[in-house]
Amino acid sequence: MSADKESSWRGLETIEAREAVLLAKYAMHSADSAGRKFAEPDQSYRGPFQRDRDRVIHTAAYRRLSHKTQVFTGEMGDYHRTRLTHTQEVATIARTIGRVLMLNEDLIEALALVHDIGHPPYGHAGEDALQECIADEGGFSHNQFALTIVQEIEIRYQDFPGLNLTKEVLTGQTARTDKNANAPRPLLEVQLVDAADSTTYDAHDTDDAIKLGLVTLEQMADLELIGRCLKYVQKNFACLDDDLKRKAVVHRLINIQVTQMLTHNAAELQARQFGSATEAMNSDFLIGPDEELDRQKKELESFLYENVYRHELLMKIRKQAQNRLKEMFSIFSNHPELFPEKYQARAQKIGNRRMAIEYIAGMTDEFCEQTYSLVSKEAAN
Ligand code: MG
Repeated sequence: MSADKESSWRGLETIEAREAVLLAKYAMHSADSAGRKFAEPDQSYRGPFQRDRDRVIHTAAYRRLSHKTQVFTGEMGDYHRTRLTHTQEVATIARTIGRVLMLNEDLIEALALVHDIGHPPYGHAGEDALQECIADEGGFSHNQFALTIVQEIEIRYQDFPGLNLTKEVLTGQTARTDKNANAPRPLLEVQLVDAADSTTYDAHDTDDAIKLGLVTLEQMADLELIGRCLKYVQKNFACLDDDLKRKAVVHRLINIQVTQMLTHNAAELQARQFGSATEAMNSDFLIGPDEELDRQKKELESFLYENVYRHELLMKIRKQAQNRLKEMFSIFSNHPELFPEKYQARAQKIGNRRMAIEYIAGMTDEFCEQTYSLVSKEAAN
């Protein structure tokens, strides 16, 4: 390395110096973090949000996402997304957009990786069943449970419970529990992860649903957004077989959404000239699709809702899974001796019914199946 290059690199040794060059004023800078509940010394080579991201990756709850349903269950094949691959796609898309908008990529990644960590087995069907079981006692939501996991359940350090994540990541996840339009706006990084979540599932649910044969591309051709993708694919690639055609449409679906989001939000941010992350939060600006894309996404999402999420096959699996979860809830609530030894103390603290919800919510689909066949036999004896 030439002496000149080395000296310019040397100026960027600290996280603060690197962020000062790479991030916009409206981004969340690590130096401005409100810190952690339990104070910890800074680390010289990793910023606070990068450490949060690494802590999330090393949790059991994160690893378990690989065996949790996104929309389609394991018995339907192995092509489709799991909760883990969905999470990784969200992180990838959010970082791509965040980098261009000069937002804090480490914070974005930490937020994306933690956003679905509280999902129970069987996706939203599982969530609805658990919510029904405990509706009058505080209810259950995967967004809220993510906070419980990272603040109480994951014990990885001797000095504090949970992961002791930064206040920015915890507040960002908290914002997901209250999506009321009048709620205070979260940081731009939090807004972006939310927008990337829908960018991601609109594309991969289309891909998975067609691949699984629940709907056809032809059936979706009249949807404006899919129509735009098809037109591009037909114009640019002459003779694709069905498989490549579906993939090309899905690539285009991601590309259109990301490009339009970037163009729209970059122009807005440039025009508004926010001087700080707080100023951006206190404004009426919200990262998201422009009006046209928003309308087209809503049309696609209502198609997916009616024809995919409510598909006869999924509804049947959904009902079975929900019945099993409810039965398990009742068994564990009435037989707390069936909780593994390590959960007995927590059961004493939060009560058997809440413990049953937490225990079930933490399970992978497969572990849930195994546990169900074990405990249903035991309870019958
Ligand atoms: Mg998600």
